[in-house]
Amino acid sequence: MHTRPVCFALLIAALVLSSTARADVPWLPAGLPPAPANGPALCPGAFISPAQGAAILDAALTQFSDRAAWDTYAAHLRSRIQSAAGLTPWPRRTPLNPIIRDRRTHDGYTVENVALESAPGLFVTGNLYRPTNLAGKHPVVLTTHGHARAVATPADYDTHARFAPHVQTRCAQLARMGAIVFAIDMFAYGEGIQLYGQDAHRDPRAITIHLWNGIRALDFLLGLEGADTTRVGVTGESGGGTQTFLLTALDPRVTVSAPVVMVSAHFFGGCLCESGRPIHRGADYFASNAMIAALAAPRPQLLVSDGKDWTLNTPRIEFPFLQKIYGYYGAADHTANVHLPDEGHDYGPSKRAAVYRFFATQLGLNLAAATDASGQIDESHATIERAAALRVFTADFPVPPHALHDAGAIERALVKLQQL
Ligand SMILES: [Zn+2]
Repeated sequence: MHTRPVCFALLIAALVLSSTARADVPWLPAGLPPAPANGPALCPGAFISPAQGAAILDAALTQFSDRAAWDTYAAHLRSRIQSAAGLTPWPRRTPLNPIIRDRRTHDGYTVENVALESAPGLFVTGNLYRPTNLAGKHPVVLTTHGHARAVATPADYDTHARFAPHVQTRCAQLARMGAIVFAIDMFAYGEGIQLYGQDAHRDPRAITIHLWNGIRALDFLLGLEGADTTRVGVTGESGGGTQTFLLTALDPRVTVSAPVVMVSAHFFGGCLCESGRPIHRGADYFASNAMIAALAAPRPQLLVSDGKDWTLNTPRIEFPFLQKIYGYYGAADHTANVHLPDEGHDYGPSKRAAVYRFFATQLGLNLAAATDASGQIDESHATIERAAALRVFTADFPVPPHALHDAGAIERALVKLQQL
């Protein structure tokens, strides 16, 4: 007499187990960690294994097997990422009120210290590197940096954030090659420490701030005299790589991108500024960082990867996936991978060299200005400045009194711009 109810209960239990074991998005492979029952479906850090990451890419290619299917899903993903970042609708664009100070002339390029307001009181701090000869039209490049150790002493700023020599070097070199280059600080890094304090960075709203600041930084760059709006590059390493592919995914003005040591099928970024909001997963979408990078297609994109971090499988997992997506557009040759198996997680000389060569080809830059007589990359013409020289806000030129000083105030300012 009790057989049927027991069987029924077992069936229900099996269905429940099956549904929790299966992924929430139907096309995903079974066995992924389930989305949490409550709260945002975050995918922090190493949320899945490399094998699971590869299986998801395979499933995506099966599910979205031609250009039309991918285009539909890509538009859906863009919409979900924008919404998850808290930027739907896009905030109204307000005057940037750029501050451009202290022009220095070096070998083939100039450097200026810049601040602009991406929203009223929300200051983006950075440095503008321009070719000495500004005649004619120039490609623009936005560069973002990765995470760095906390600043403990004033001297630490000299190797920190946008002040770091490797950031200065790539900016100088690209400007010598003919690009107008803007290097910006992460939220609560660099000069942002003065504005917000270092602890403010670890906040999920950093995703929102980075994305909006990147969009407004492009507004600034593209409004400069001599800027060529048809040649727009973005590059950055690690957390700056995350900023690079998110901005490229959502801003169609970006024509060429080079995310460095970050695009992975299984690693989602270990900081709240990369995975603190549900940009990767919701009830009707899933996107690993490799899939977000694919939203650049068919615009040219270089993946720089290495053998000692989460990009170690790029030549056999992430890059072939991108080639297939780009192939939907007849543009498989628009994506490239430079893999450095003996190197680690940085934006060092050989990684910079790869980007110089890629940007030279794709943005029409003068590679000869970056190479010596034998054709080798030569960075010796870059002048490395101290952080104190690169700051826009100083004792004599202090932070404006209406500057915002915490993520909550920034969020309220952006929400206000969404309501107008
Ligand atoms: Zn971060």
